[in-house]
Amino acid sequence: MVVDSASASDRLLHPDEAREKIFERLRQLPAQEVALRDAPWRVLARDVVAAEDHPPFPAATMDGYAVIADDPSPWREIVGRQTAGYVDEIDVTLGTAAWITTGSPVPRGATAVVPVEVTELADEHVIIHQDHVEAGANIRPVGIDLAKGASILRAGDVLGPPEMGLLAAMGVDPVSVVRRPRVSVLSTGNELVEPGETPGPGQIRDSNRFSLIAALQEAGAEVIWDGRGADDLDALRMSLITRVAESDVVITSGGVSMGDLDLIKPLLSELADVHFRRVFMKPGKPFNFATSGDALIFSLPGNPVSALVSFEVFLRPALRSMLGAKEIDRPQVQVRIAHAVQPSDRIEFQRAVVAVTPDGSLEARTTGSQASSRLASLIGANALVVIPPGTDRLAAGSRVDALLVAPIASGTR
Ligand code: AMP
Ligand code: MG
Repeated sequence: MVVDSASASDRLLHPDEAREKIFERLRQLPAQEVALRDAPWRVLARDVVAAEDHPPFPAATMDGYAVIADDPSPWREIVGRQTAGYVDEIDVTLGTAAWITTGSPVPRGATAVVPVEVTELADEHVIIHQDHVEAGANIRPVGIDLAKGASILRAGDVLGPPEMGLLAAMGVDPVSVVRRPRVSVLSTGNELVEPGETPGPGQIRDSNRFSLIAALQEAGAEVIWDGRGADDLDALRMSLITRVAESDVVITSGGVSMGDLDLIKPLLSELADVHFRRVFMKPGKPFNFATSGDALIFSLPGNPVSALVSFEVFLRPALRSMLGAKEIDRPQVQVRIAHAVQPSDRIEFQRAVVAVTPDGSLEARTTGSQASSRLASLIGANALVVIPPGTDRLAAGSRVDALLVAPIASGTR
């Protein structure tokens, strides 16, 4: 179905408007239960409330002796021994103490734990070399780490190490997470061969598919299919129809420019509703967004850097949003450019290394030639520096925005 007239969908959109058009059509994916063991880095689908107190019993935080805090006895009889994981019938009274280990329940009657380091053993007795023992010393009261009923995690939280640990501590297994977007990746181009093949005359290896598979994994998506197609209208049509039917998201690369063999463009008009085709940015000006039923179709330009920058600017936030993640965007910071930059006629996303200078400010240094075919310009880059369009050179030291795509390099170079 052709919905937009050619002129409407060919309009050059500001990246913000393009993003809006994408976000209007996103929906959060449903929840699914997974074993906690399989949940790292997934997005939590529901708020989690502590079902129990943690610790569930008053627990010793030191190896030592459980005593009554204000017991004036010069020495105490050892009436029991208790290690973590056991509960013995021990009563601590005036003049007595129980030897206990870190993490073990504090025996009945005891109000403090004296560390073993300040004690001395004499026969079956212990002498405490500490003037004053505070009530509650070295005891973790019930629920001090987590009180029953407290909200611990929220829908949208990403399950990293502490989140995983908390869920385990609270017995949340299986856990309800948002289903990952099912994504198909199709590289198009007659010139493409597999990485394991030796390119013939005029051929190159397909690199976009592999860049995109990594980018998708990092974004939390599931690649359910990936492949390569020649610039053949019938074959691409069949491939697109199949992928659209089984995927939440279909990503193609190549075939969206102005050439006779740029077949993705006409095929999208034939098979889907096209929402826009061009964005006012560099690299990544040809970028088609279409929908067909519930499937979203993103057709990226073939140039390897253009494909990845388009992914970073539009697809990653879209996928994070489908996942219901709390944070969908990369952090945006202000940086000073280390060298003068000649702006282009479009908003330019330049690949750079952002580092902290000795005076504590952030400085961006280019990764070299910014040609849209030069994948090496992304190697080591931790930022996309946003250069506004213009004609006047931006002097070294000018302030611009940057998207941090990886942690900031520390120290000076
Ligand atoms: P296209 O967008 O199809 O006009 O391709 C633009 C440029 O990107 C051409 O130089 C293609 O050879 C190259 N290219 C297209 N697809 C890929 C790919 N999957 N991997 C590497 N280079 C590609
Ligand atoms: Mg092509």
